[in-house]
Amino acid sequence: MTAPQTVGFTPGERNVFLHILTGCNLSCSHCYINPAEHGSAMLSRQQMAAWIRLFSDPARKSNLIFLGGEPTLHPDLVSGIEVAKQCGYAVTVDTNGYLFHDFLDRVDPESLDYLSFSLDGPDPQVNDPIRGHGVFEVCTANLRRAAARGISTSLIYTVSSRNIDHLARMPELVRDLGVKRFFIQVIGLRGKSAGGGEKASPLQVDPQTWLRIVPEVARTVAETGVTVIYPKVFLDRGEPFECAGNVAENFFIFPNGRVYQCPLCEDYPIHSYEIRDNELVKVEGLSEDRFFKLNIAEGCVMNKLLQPDTITYDSSGRPHHRVSCCLLKQRLG
Ligand code: SF4
Ligand code: SF4
Repeated sequence: MTAPQTVGFTPGERNVFLHILTGCNLSCSHCYINPAEHGSAMLSRQQMAAWIRLFSDPARKSNLIFLGGEPTLHPDLVSGIEVAKQCGYAVTVDTNGYLFHDFLDRVDPESLDYLSFSLDGPDPQVNDPIRGHGVFEVCTANLRRAAARGISTSLIYTVSSRNIDHLARMPELVRDLGVKRFFIQVIGLRGKSAGGGEKASPLQVDPQTWLRIVPEVARTVAETGVTVIYPKVFLDRGEPFECAGNVAENFFIFPNGRVYQCPLCEDYPIHSYEIRDNELVKVEGLSEDRFFKLNIAEGCVMNKLLQPDTITYDSSGRPHHRVSCCLLKQRLG
């Protein structure tokens, strides 16, 4: 079995994370959408097309991920996918599985590179207390329908203290559903999971538990031929630290026009850019990019500011682990 490969930030590659609305039919306990900061608007069909074109650059490899809320609640999602494909993006839609507006019947499988489903447990007993009653059945049934239509599917499992002990049962389900990619994510300290305090959220997983469970499950899934992607989280000793905000092109775009470069900053009005009249405008004053330049022993400066209790120190005051950029991933398969 090959060792996991750390996927560095690819110079010249662009990732566009486009939230086309913030509304959702579910109310997951760890939802990171924050209407106080991101509004409750839905992009119009014209706005969506204009914003997709605004970030398009045919000269470089570009990925566009449609997000919400629940993006299939947008009646013009299929039109947005077609615009994105014409612009040359690799296109992904992240869904909670409900697939509104007859999405599967209307979308051209050729224009969609991946349809990613979120599931936080291997069965309804684990998933539904987190994501909602009946969600497991709907999500898995629609994933099978999508795969039967010839659409490449992914599964996203957000690890928290509520479901990490059940992650080891996921390889069987991943194989049974026929997904092509399995993403393991770590719960962020954003939105509802932030809880408003400075202490580590009870939903978070400690480093020892993460390192004991996640790489092993990733290996097991990868052995079945599925690509597995999971965050690095803790850098190995001597491994270099890089902040994606300094070296990569990631844009996290919200329907109120805010554009962030770092997802950890999304709960605060420190976005780097705003879209005004369909133009990208640099925000002056205290914005997230000021933090990206700070070099600290703990690694990611936003992690240190937002969740200091997740870092432990030795007797000489050195952190046991440097925390990697949350956008740094490991890939297997
Ligand atoms: S499906 Fe996504 S957007 Fe909707 S409540 Fe759950 S985490 Fe939030
Ligand atoms: S998560 Fe940390 S390292 Fe990554 S972009 Fe944000 S501030 Fe930079």
